[in-house]
Amino acid sequence: MNYRPYEVRVCSDGKRRGCFLKLTHEERKQRFWDKIKVGDPDECWLWLGAKQPSRGLFYGVYEWKGKGRSTHRIAYMLAKGPIPKGLVVRHLCHNSLCCNPRHLEVGTQAQNVEDAVKAGRMASGERSGRRKHPEAFPCGEDCKVSKLTEKQVLEIHRAYRSEELHSGQLAERYQIAQVHVNKILKFETWAHLRPTVESWGLPLEGLHRKNLGKARLLFGKNEQAVRREMRILREKGLTFREIAKKYQCSESAVRTRLKD
Ligand SMILES: [Zn+2]
Repeated sequence: MNYRPYEVRVCSDGKRRGCFLKLTHEERKQRFWDKIKVGDPDECWLWLGAKQPSRGLFYGVYEWKGKGRSTHRIAYMLAKGPIPKGLVVRHLCHNSLCCNPRHLEVGTQAQNVEDAVKAGRMASGERSGRRKHPEAFPCGEDCKVSKLTEKQVLEIHRAYRSEELHSGQLAERYQIAQVHVNKILKFETWAHLRPTVESWGLPLEGLHRKNLGKARLLFGKNEQAVRREMRILREKGLTFREIAKKYQCSESAVRTRLKD
């Protein structure tokens, strides 16, 4: 859709053509405000121009600097200045067509959603689509793209928590990406298994710490133990090189472990 302002002109060959207008900033501003029913300062000023439906509401759209934009955003920009990056413009009056700058405020998307929930326009909690229609949101093995079975995911959790294997080794064993393993371990995926995993009572200590698996490979013990030992050696007056020789690792591996 194109919202760029144009007018119909009669050209030299007698034909009528639509021509895009070259407007100054002031003229463009004026054309924009002309499409708004400006009323009393406290009233809602409704947008009279083109509208677009979004989530059951109608929002005004207007071409501004080459792009179709929401009119309440343009109104805010013109009246109060630029909208900070990442923020949205909220309607304090819950009227999606309102362009009265006094009814507009910037906020986060989270605040905007909160507004909608408060106004009863968005279902949350027990009314949410996910709760009401779980069949529409398959998870775990029911998900068509899943590569693992529930049993395998539980094995991954158990192996990691008992410090048998680190995520790189788990990725290799199950032929999946390491980021996927990490997501499983953080319950970003297969989140519905969290209660089962937590019921085992295996401690979470050291989980997701960087280089945990590496230390195990290099030294055969966990990171904290290695650091503790190295610190003691250092306090005894050994140089980094001597410590590195003792552990058969690089000097930089010692340095990074003794940094803090
Ligand atoms: Zn309003």
